[in-house]
Amino acid sequence: MILFDQVSKMYRGQARPAVHNVTLDVQAGEFVFLVGASGSGKSSLLRLILKEERPSNGTVHVLGQDLKKIPARKVPIFRRSLGVVFQDFRLLPQKTVFDNVAFSLQVIGRSSGFIHEAVPDVLQTVGLASKADNFPHELSGGEQQRVAIARAVVNKPAILVADEPTGNLDPATSAGIMNVLSRINASGTTVLMATHDAGIVNQMQRRVVEISQGRIVRDEHEGGYQEGSVPLGEADTAPIPVVDEREAVEPTPLKKKLDLSVDPDEIPEQFPWELRA
Ligand code: ADP
Ligand code: MG
Repeated sequence: MILFDQVSKMYRGQARPAVHNVTLDVQAGEFVFLVGASGSGKSSLLRLILKEERPSNGTVHVLGQDLKKIPARKVPIFRRSLGVVFQDFRLLPQKTVFDNVAFSLQVIGRSSGFIHEAVPDVLQTVGLASKADNFPHELSGGEQQRVAIARAVVNKPAILVADEPTGNLDPATSAGIMNVLSRINASGTTVLMATHDAGIVNQMQRRVVEISQGRIVRDEHEGGYQEGSVPLGEADTAPIPVVDEREAVEPTPLKKKLDLSVDPDEIPEQFPWELRA
């Protein structure tokens, strides 16, 4: 699903590579934490997956496609198969919750009928059905992040990439966000989340890839933030609510291959997460 083969990223004018000889294989359906100190290279690694940066060395495959071989005009089609969430939400302030989510479907040409079914559905999934007509400034930080997640997943991407999505939120609110991300993962979406929140990582006990100075220094299934860290129950943060399978979202068909056959003229250059107020 995501494959790094000896990938390095050296920014111009920097003494050390931000990503250093990384080899990593993420399978369809996995939930992976990418942990490490600030400046360790987490965001750089995620930007390589989004094809926002080009590796200096090595190859990155996403959905079976060598990213080097995707021509520039097809990049928007490629990005359509990914959902992205950031620490700072990046909602459009002058649009309602409904319209923020609907906008990401409008720009890819979805019909109004589709939008009026899909948006309420996804708002239900993230627990915001009652806030559809509110504006971002009327919401709490946690609610704004739920809108951003709804927008990222409404088109049922195969992969959700989240860069410190709980970085601006308190522990209880973060737990709610993790519950939403767990449900999205339970529906079949592969989730890759960068964080340095030890409490969350320890509680979730999912795969942990630790990066230090650009290098992978640990890759542990069902891990915690530190090696041998305390699992669920003994950590001193609010417990993360258990996923109720009956409420789990509709399964996402496991798209393992990328289809680049869509006419690029039908795809906009910009994606919602790239738009700025
Ligand atoms: P993290 O997300 O783990 O905090 P980053 O990937 O943002 O780490 O940064 C890794 C290293 O690369 C840091 O030393 C940072 O200063 C550097 N870096 C990140 N982005 C750029 C850039 N666009 N140009 C030059 N250096 C960068
Ligand atoms: Mg970062």
